[in-house]
Amino acid sequence: MADEFPFEISPMFEGERIRKDGMYVELAGPKSKGFELVRAADINDIEDDKFTLIGPDLSDMEEGSRHPIAMIYKIAGELVETDLESIVERRNHEFQNYIQGLMHLNQRDDVWLRLGTDAVNKGLTSFEYIAKAIMMLFKNELPFIEKVEAIYITDIQEVEKELDSAKEVYKARDERTRNLHDEDVDTFYGCTLCASFAPTNVCVVTPDRISLCGAINWFDGRAAAKVDPEGPQFAIPKGELIDSESGEYSGVNEAAKRLSSGEYDRIKLHSFFEYPHTSCGCFEVVGFYIPEVDGIGWIDRDFAGTAPNGLQFSTMAGQTGGGKQVAGFLGVGINYFRSPKFIQSDGGWNRVVWMPKILKEKILNDIPEDIRDKIATEEETSDIESLKNFLSEKEHPIVVRWNEEEEENDVQETPSPQQQGYEAPQMMQMPSNFMPSIPMGSSGGSAGMKIILKNAKVSIEKIIIKKDE
Ligand code: ZN
Repeated sequence: MADEFPFEISPMFEGERIRKDGMYVELAGPKSKGFELVRAADINDIEDDKFTLIGPDLSDMEEGSRHPIAMIYKIAGELVETDLESIVERRNHEFQNYIQGLMHLNQRDDVWLRLGTDAVNKGLTSFEYIAKAIMMLFKNELPFIEKVEAIYITDIQEVEKELDSAKEVYKARDERTRNLHDEDVDTFYGCTLCASFAPTNVCVVTPDRISLCGAINWFDGRAAAKVDPEGPQFAIPKGELIDSESGEYSGVNEAAKRLSSGEYDRIKLHSFFEYPHTSCGCFEVVGFYIPEVDGIGWIDRDFAGTAPNGLQFSTMAGQTGGGKQVAGFLGVGINYFRSPKFIQSDGGWNRVVWMPKILKEKILNDIPEDIRDKIATEEETSDIESLKNFLSEKEHPIVVRWNEEEEENDVQETPSPQQQGYEAPQMMQMPSNFMPSIPMGSSGGSAGMKIILKNAKVSIEKIIIKKDE
């Protein structure tokens, strides 16, 4: 079957990166426009395997050029329902990456494609090949799809026209989970679509927590698990509630153990610092701890500038990804900001100090009103110092934490002389103005020498100071 195509199709090519110098064309991406969309349709309205192109084809595109692209698929079948649209849509990402010489990144209206020069030289000169390959994979891998049709658009005016209605569809999907919460259901859903590059990743999709890629919500997980329980989306029985504040469930912990091959055995769904959700690599936004202000900043994939800590999205994403639980970093889907349980065990919105302006505007109505103006963007702050000033000026709730910590530190400066094993707290729980002082005298509280670690950047698991016998 694959003989029809002028390229190879295999999961082996999934990790393939196409750099600028080996690129024939770039489609959509941050410097252009585009989207992917799957719609369920009536079986009688679909002509199976039909491909329509609106706008120039690959053969009309110049080497090194950039173009918009919309990829719309209509699917039908007895078991096909609207809830399955996102699931199939997410597979466009996976299957396009199976094509040798084609790179597909992100999802929805954030898609970004690159086609390699080698692939074009080998005969990939029409989008029809790509669309036909994807339709074939859809039907082979997702047997509930009986008929499929593809429409690709490369004409900018047409892309823009369709983009608005696509955005409406994404929005409607995101709205669906708004009135449903973790406590209302018995089952969560797992997703292993990212397991190929993040083998220890444990993606848990719940009503209050969308997948990290932002593409799969609880309804989508349920629909997918129903048609193919052995597939990449499957049920995770919630089990016992261990802690409602942080969102810890025995069923999730068991799934974590199984899916991470024993690497992790606890996941708190709504925690930032302690046993956070693992981060795969396709998250839409990265949260990062800013120790100097004891707050959390968020940076999204589309923001090309630097955060107040001097780092860009790509740098922090590199630290965060790979399917690990990383203290101080957390990957999330944008819709998680709309969750009433958003990092609730670490202060929720009261802990958020910075995000790029465009991201903030996107979710503005979901930020509690009293904190909306107190979250800085790149327009008000450029570094830690200006962030600190902004937060003080706006009386951000985080400022109260600074004062509390100072008081706590005062107390910690006179530990009991009888203390045998002084355990320093872990780095992530240590605010920057925390100055642990270690009593060195042989007897008596304040006698002898004192070492003050001011603004220390070292990570200390444990300090044990024993009394000289
Ligand atoms: Zn992922």
